[in-house]
Amino acid sequence: MANEVMMQAFEWDSPADGNFYKNLKKNAKNLKEKGIDALWLPPACKGGSDKDVGYGIYDLWDLGEFDQKDTVRTKYGTKEEYLAAIKALHDAGIKVYADVVLNHKANADFTETFKAVMVDQNDRTKDVSEAYDIEAWTGFDFKNRKGKYSDFTWHYYHFSGVDYDVKTDTNAIYRIVGDNKYWNEGVSDEKGNYDYLMFADIDHDHPEVRAEIFKWVDWYLDQTGVDGFRYDALKHIEDNFILDLSKHIMEKTNNNFYLIGEYWQYNKDQIDQYLGNTDWKIDLFDVPLHFHFQEASKSNATYDMRKIFDDTIVKDHPMQAVTFVDNHDSQPHQALESFVEDWFKEIAYGLILLRKDGYPCIFAGDYYGLKGPVKTEPKMEIIDKLLQARKKYAWGDEDDYFDHPQVVGWVRRTDRQNSSLAVLISIGDMAQKQMFVGEEEAGKVYVDLSKKNKNEVIIDENGNGIFQVGPGSITYWVDKESIK
Ligand code: CA
Repeated sequence: MANEVMMQAFEWDSPADGNFYKNLKKNAKNLKEKGIDALWLPPACKGGSDKDVGYGIYDLWDLGEFDQKDTVRTKYGTKEEYLAAIKALHDAGIKVYADVVLNHKANADFTETFKAVMVDQNDRTKDVSEAYDIEAWTGFDFKNRKGKYSDFTWHYYHFSGVDYDVKTDTNAIYRIVGDNKYWNEGVSDEKGNYDYLMFADIDHDHPEVRAEIFKWVDWYLDQTGVDGFRYDALKHIEDNFILDLSKHIMEKTNNNFYLIGEYWQYNKDQIDQYLGNTDWKIDLFDVPLHFHFQEASKSNATYDMRKIFDDTIVKDHPMQAVTFVDNHDSQPHQALESFVEDWFKEIAYGLILLRKDGYPCIFAGDYYGLKGPVKTEPKMEIIDKLLQARKKYAWGDEDDYFDHPQVVGWVRRTDRQNSSLAVLISIGDMAQKQMFVGEEEAGKVYVDLSKKNKNEVIIDENGNGIFQVGPGSITYWVDKESIK
């Protein structure tokens, strides 16, 4: 991938006015010109209402086409508008990745009564009751879709767990009981077995469920022509199922498809294990790197920047890593809140956009600013500058100067561009560092592309420059003549 950049096109509080797809269509060319090569779109399937972000998924087959849950459109628009947006993005040369929510179903049509056992919240392998009848929201018959595309109806035996018993008005985690039925076992072993996350948890061992989802994937690809999937909540889904499904997709598309997974895990050993379990077919978001960014941003300048890439996916498996700063779950008030502090955002984006390794993903909530209860200023200007620098200068070898706890830098050596790129970060005081940009650069005048530092740096006869950076800041320098 040649310096490609992905953008997560939405945040949790993107406006629920139904204009999302329409705006995307209008904005497609502009995004490409800015340097965006692929867009991760929000879940397209019908959720519980026209405000559902998409993770409260109700019907896989309704992309904003049927009057279900009191709305035809989803939060983002109608199916027609979705397909038109994809076409516009494709016409502009932008790939589209669909967010695919396969762990659970929500907002069922009716309740059913069946046998379940209550389990320990913190160790789901421990039953804390005998099997008894509970009543839960597990029936899905999609009356208003009238069997179009699929006449499959969902019942309790297609699920492995729920978290609410209507009969006794009890919130707890219930494992659904049946012949040969248990939690799916190819899942994270956090909480003993982390199959259950939320809502009605889909049992991916059930042959009818597998057949239905495979059928749906074929349909989805045919209908939408998307270029990739972002799998939601992989920690909670049977890994063999995901592997089989991914193999099926790669076969169907002649390997012309991109798979990226959300596996929210800090522990590198468990990440490595998952990459192996799924046969290295799925890239993963670099969650450890995100947490390092957050930690550094909250450290009061005491974080050791030499270690920022230690035990990250991008360091150990660069071809498998999607690097990111924040997302719709890590933003304030969301389930995995771990937002990177504002002052560190530009540094973090520099660390993903100007490096050689990783497939960087820009978060719309950073780019346009968060619009919800916690509002933030758009970082568009800052990110655009970094994007331009990435596209024009972030090529060639990378020489690292990760030699000081608060001040680190690197140089991308002149290769296809007409200048090297020298990047310097300080999370502490104002600082400077001598870095080698190449003998062929001797005598050239380097300036700060971020425009924060007005000084000019003259490269000495050996190819070294002494670059400067302000406190808690990033600068990136190129040959002045190359800018024209
Ligand atoms: Ca599950």
